[in-house]
Amino acid sequence: AGLSEAEQVRVIVSLLIAENERMRLDSTDLVKNLEDSRKQIETLRVSLTEAQEHVLQDPLTGVGNRRAFDMAMQKAINEASQEHAPLTLVICDIDHFKRVNDAFGHQVGDEIIKMFSRVIEAGIRDGDTVVRYGGEEFAIILPKADQEAAKHVAERIRRSFENKKLTIRETNQKVGQLTASFGVAQFRPGDDASALVQRADTKLYDAKSAGRNRVAVFGASD
Ligand code: GH3
Ligand code: MG
Ligand code: MG
Repeated sequence: AGLSEAEQVRVIVSLLIAENERMRLDSTDLVKNLEDSRKQIETLRVSLTEAQEHVLQDPLTGVGNRRAFDMAMQKAINEASQEHAPLTLVICDIDHFKRVNDAFGHQVGDEIIKMFSRVIEAGIRDGDTVVRYGGEEFAIILPKADQEAAKHVAERIRRSFENKKLTIRETNQKVGQLTASFGVAQFRPGDDASALVQRADTKLYDAKSAGRNRVAVFGASD
C-alpha cells in the first residue's frame, strides 16, 4: 500500500528472487542429503556382504564352517540327484592332536590346524568344498567324484600332510611328524546329508582304529 505500481513490481520481483534462491538452496541440501544417504547405503551394503560371508566362515582357518557345510552339502546332494552324477564326502581328522596341544601349547595347535586346512585346499579342485567340521576335523565335499577318485584325493592330502616338516620358529623346536586319518563315503540315491556324514564318519573311525594315518573307504563289505 502507498507504493507506486513500479515500486510494487520491484518488491514483488525481489520477493520472487529471494524465494527462488531459498528453493535453490533447499534443493542443493536435498541433493547433498541424497548423496549422503547413497553413501550410507553403499557402506551398509558392503558391511552386509562381509557379515554374510563371515557367517559362513571359520574364523581361524578362513575355510567354511558347519553352516557352510550344511548349505554346500544340500546343494551338492540336489545336483548329484538331478544330474545322476557321483558325489563323495571325505571327513578327516588330525591324529593324536591332543598330544600336540599338550606338548607345544594351544597356539601351536592352532597354527597346525591352519596349516592342515591349507594342505587340504592345495589338494582339491575348484568346485570342491572344504569346511572345518569341528576342532581339528575337516569335511571335503567332492562333487562329480566317485569314491575311487575321492580316495586318491584323500591319499594325496594324507601324504602331503605327513611330509610336512614343522619347526617352531621362535624356539627352533621340531614338532615332528604329523598325520591325519580319512573316512570316505560316496553318495547313494536317497541319502540325506546326515546319512552320508554318518558313513564317512564310520570309516574315519575305522581308519583311526586300524592304526591312523590312512584312508578308509565305505565299500561293499560295510
Ligand atoms: P585321534 O587321533 O583319535 O583323533 O586323537 P586326538 O587327540 O586328535 O583326538 P581328540 O578328539 O581326543 O582331541 C582333539 C583335541 O583337539 C582336543 C582339543 O583340545 C583340541 N582342539 C579342538 N579344537 C581346537 C582348536 O581350535 N585349537 C587347538 N589348538 N586345539 C583344539
Ligand atoms: Mg584327532
Ligand atoms: Mg577330532
